[in-house]
This record gives sequence, structure tokens and C-alpha cells, in this order.
Amino acid sequence: MSVTNQKQVSSPTQSAAAQKTVAPYKHKKGEAYMNPKQLDHFRTILNNIKLGLGEDIDRTVHTMQDEATVFADPNDRASQESDMTLELRNRDRERKLLKKIDEMLAKIESGDYGYCDNCGVEIGLNRLEARPTATLCIDCKTLDEIREKQVAK
Ligand SMILES: [Zn+2]
Repeated sequence: MSVTNQKQVSSPTQSAAAQKTVAPYKHKKGEAYMNPKQLDHFRTILNNIKLGLGEDIDRTVHTMQDEATVFADPNDRASQESDMTLELRNRDRERKLLKKIDEMLAKIESGDYGYCDNCGVEIGLNRLEARPTATLCIDCKTLDEIREKQVAK
């Protein structure tokens, strides 16, 4: 994923594409959490990430097609193959993210977006702004990570 406009934004987000076009949501005092305006905002962010991913996947396919015809030398072919493995892994990751984004868009439609999958509390605008695909509140996510580390040991 390209990281062009990263410097202009203070909070890190998952997608450079989203940073380029969507300004952070201006929350008004007393505004209801996940009101239609907020949902619109996150829908736009998610759709932007999706568009960016689509471009990346197209580019990968083209790169692979171009490279497939170029190398005749066996050494080049070997490195080309590992490149492809990497590309395929990236594509796999992108597909998963794409699937995740579709799930989040469905959540927006069903009214579940912005609430923790685990405990049901509000995930919070700031956290969603940084991670639009977050499905856990910060507490549950932290617990989750601790558990993952313990499993890895
Ligand atoms: Zn939670």
C-alpha cells in the first residue's frame, strides 16, 4: 500500500487512500453516537479503502503478467518466484481486508457499526477514525492481544 500523504495526518490510519480524501469527523457536543452523519462518514472512509485496495490488486495482477514473460535466466526466475509468493501473500491479505471492509459496511447498514463485538460498548470515534475496521473496544482488544501473546509463548 502506498504511503504518500502520511505526514499531513496526526493519527495513524490503515489507509493512505482514506487519509487523502476524508477529513476527520467533526464531532459536535451532545451529538448521538453513530448518528446518520457519523455512519455516512465511516461509510465513506471504508469505501475509500476499498477503492484503494481494488487498485492495488489490479496493479499486482499486471505486475505479475509483465514479469512472467521477462526472465529466462534460472536465477532471475527463482527471485521472480519469491516475488510472486510475496505478491500473492499481499493479495491474500488485501482480500481479507476487503472482506472485513464489506463486513463493516454491512454493520453500518444493520446499525451494529461502532460497537464492540465482545462486550457491546461504544468503540469510540477516535479509535474508529484510526482503525475504521475495529470490531472490539480498546479494553477487549488489549485483553485479546495479551491472550494472543500468551498463546504464542
Ligand atoms: Zn469490548
